[in-house]
This record gives sequence, C-alpha cells and structure tokens, in this order.
Amino acid sequence: MSTVPSPAETPQQTPPARTIFQKIAAREIPAQFVHEDGLCFAIRDISPQAPVHILVIPKQLVARVEQAGAGDAPLLGHLLLTAGKIAREQGLSDGFRLVVNNGRQAGETVPHLHVHLLGGRDFAWPPG
Ligand code: AMP
Repeated sequence: MSTVPSPAETPQQTPPARTIFQKIAAREIPAQFVHEDGLCFAIRDISPQAPVHILVIPKQLVARVEQAGAGDAPLLGHLLLTAGKIAREQGLSDGFRLVVNNGRQAGETVPHLHVHLLGGRDFAWPPG
C-alpha cells in the first residue's frame, strides 16, 4: 500500500517571497553598488530624494527595526558605522541625514531593513 500523501494532504512548501533587496544582493536585479562587506551592502536609491541618496542594507533579512532583537545589535551598529563611513567617502562634510522608515505610516515600502543616507542639500526639520 502506498504511503505517499495525496496532493491535498501534502503540506504547502511555498518558499517565502524574497525581497527586492535580497535579489539585488544576489545580483539578480541590477543596482549601483557603492559598498559591500560580509554583513551589508549599499546601493544608490533608484528614486533619489537628494543629490546623494544611498541605501545601506543588511544581507541577513531583518524586516524592520521593530522586528530586530538583541542579537541584531552588532548588525544594527554596523549599518550606522557603514553609513558614516560612506558619508565621509561621499564628501558629505556639511552634514547628512540617516532615515529608517518603520511601517506603513512612516512610508516603509520595502520590508527589508535599510538605512537611507541622504546628503548634498539642506534638510527641513521637522521632517515631512
Ligand atoms: P522605504 O520606503 O523606506 O521602504 O525605502 C525603500 C527605498 O527603496 C525607496 O527609496 C525606493 O526608491 C528604493 N528602491 C526600491 N527599489 C529599488 C531598486 N531596485 N534599486 C534601488 N533602490 C530601490
């Protein structure tokens, strides 16, 4: 007697959808890389909101800050340190802004944590 489950009994094995940033990291979607190391990479934003607009993105998927745990602390610190290093390399000595959008109301559109590095112009406060 066969013990193979019928299709109706087979558990769904649908792999989780990969984010656009995972596909960029795997070079499946083109992007302009400005940095890459073992933990993160940085690309120019496809829709720049400032003369310099770079996204610093962890290779490991963390959806957003509110889902990060204590174990992610070194990774989160690394993203900020990397953003600062890139800002220096980009000559943003007059200042720059780092933005992390968390959730719909903040304008998050890609559910893969990323730090926006914006520079090359003045920024208003409070932000829009
Ligand atoms: P957020 O709205 O904070 O989730 O930011 C997502 C950012 O990803 C936006 O600024 C988009 O312009 C940017 N973005 C989306 N797709 C791409 C892509 N293929 N290459 C570079 N940047 C992208």
